[in-house]
Amino acid sequence: MGDANGTNPVKDIETRLFINGEFVESSNGKTFNLYSPKTLEVVAKVHEASEEDTDRAVAAAKAAQPAWAALSVEQRSSYFKKLAQLVREHNDELAHLEALSMGIPVSTYFHAHAFSRVFDHYSEAGYTPQGTSSLNTPGYINLTLRQPYGVVAAIIPWNVPLLFFAKKVAPALAVGNTVVLKSSEKAPLTSARVAHFVKEAGFPPGVINVITGFGNVSGSVLSHHMDVRALSFTGSTRTGRRIQEAAAKSNLKPVFLELGGKSPAIIFDDADLDKAAEATQYGVQSNSGQVCMANTRIYVQDTIADKFIETFKHKFGSAVIGDPHSHETNHGPQVDKVQYEQVLRYLEIGKQDGKLLIGGESPSEHTGYFVNPTIFLDTPEDSRIMKEEVFGPVVNINIFKTEEEVLAKANDTEYGLYASVFTKNIDRAMKFAKGLEAGTVSVNCSSPTTAFDTPFGGYKGSGIGREGITHSMDNFLETKSVHIKI
Ligand code: NAD
Repeated sequence: MGDANGTNPVKDIETRLFINGEFVESSNGKTFNLYSPKTLEVVAKVHEASEEDTDRAVAAAKAAQPAWAALSVEQRSSYFKKLAQLVREHNDELAHLEALSMGIPVSTYFHAHAFSRVFDHYSEAGYTPQGTSSLNTPGYINLTLRQPYGVVAAIIPWNVPLLFFAKKVAPALAVGNTVVLKSSEKAPLTSARVAHFVKEAGFPPGVINVITGFGNVSGSVLSHHMDVRALSFTGSTRTGRRIQEAAAKSNLKPVFLELGGKSPAIIFDDADLDKAAEATQYGVQSNSGQVCMANTRIYVQDTIADKFIETFKHKFGSAVIGDPHSHETNHGPQVDKVQYEQVLRYLEIGKQDGKLLIGGESPSEHTGYFVNPTIFLDTPEDSRIMKEEVFGPVVNINIFKTEEEVLAKANDTEYGLYASVFTKNIDRAMKFAKGLEAGTVSVNCSSPTTAFDTPFGGYKGSGIGREGITHSMDNFLETKSVHIKI
């Protein structure tokens, strides 16, 4: 295991499934190889959940749910506090585990703190689901009760595993559901490690089950499962469609889908160019561009285009590429061979359709799935690289003249997750906040993925439903009407 600074705190790697409070091997003995995207060596042989394992996890969650729901909010919250604390204490270990599996540089790792913040929030706020009451019908008192679904499945991607673990599991549990979480086959190690903290925090067996595996078998089994009563998914639009189809063909479980993006950033001539360049550089470079919100389409107004492009190029091109375990590195490899080759294919499309300004290849001095920060200029709007999610450190910069023109271009996409606008003109900022077709719009900043106090989710092909502290709780509650004759 690489450790450029000699401080790697990873000792043992957990590769088993966590079902009903116990760590178990897969029932059919099947494991899969997990490779380091830096060294390309096998770093772990991970147990792959079979259909039987997935069924057992759902059965354990189902058995545990009534007693969990019967606890008071304060009792449930007390477990959250312990779990948040344990994860916070192990931040460095979790950072190195993630660097090992998916290549995120430890210097940029924020996922464990985000996890703890979400669980802390629920424990401190002590949420109680609120129903309503009404005396509007003569002779009756009418009430609504908010009740948990039962078993909730959470299926998460590899790019920010612990943040999605927390954003799905904490609200589902807070209102009395139990959970089966399926981590991504590309980054299963931190979720498996957190399962140890779940046990240490004393959660009753079956309340949180953590399995890993591929879409086929475990992901598909969860999506079709008749005892899974709601499903929260973060991942690609392609998989989101399959999950919705599976839900429609099984028990019509509600599905909440947080999907891909092709986010525009619009830089007007009155913007603070330095800040705009810094925010957009962070937006497309963090996690080597493997971020759903990445502002991969930058539109810059003609009068300041040269100046902005120069500043942006300098910032984006100065990435320190290298060993993700080193604290000097801020740009790691792509997660795996599949992702790397996908990015390389888009680089060829970009070279054909647009003008390459910097990058466009892998750094020859590094082994591993690295891609240099890449900028294309003046790419036609109908090019595939302007329409499809690349998920790499690749940005297209196009020049515009008028507000009408840029708004139309920004919205000309099947995605609608995120957009940003940089201007000092308040009227213009509000006009774009209203006009941009995206679930989140940032003005003069790059939105932190850890802003939990507002709902997060997509317009159009970027998803269904919203996540966020209060919105997520609503996702996991049924509403029952009760009519009482008086
Ligand atoms: P993915 O869709 O390939 O996989 C996501 C998860 O779904 C994994 O756990 C995978 O094993 C599972 N899965 C795959 N096929 C399945 C099936 N048929 N049934 C059930 N589960 C299945 O996505 P990924 O490559 O892990 O993640 C990258 C994608 O996630 C990008 O498109 C990115 O934009 C998106 N994403 C969105 C958000 C958001 O909040 N909107 C956040 C992060 C990532």
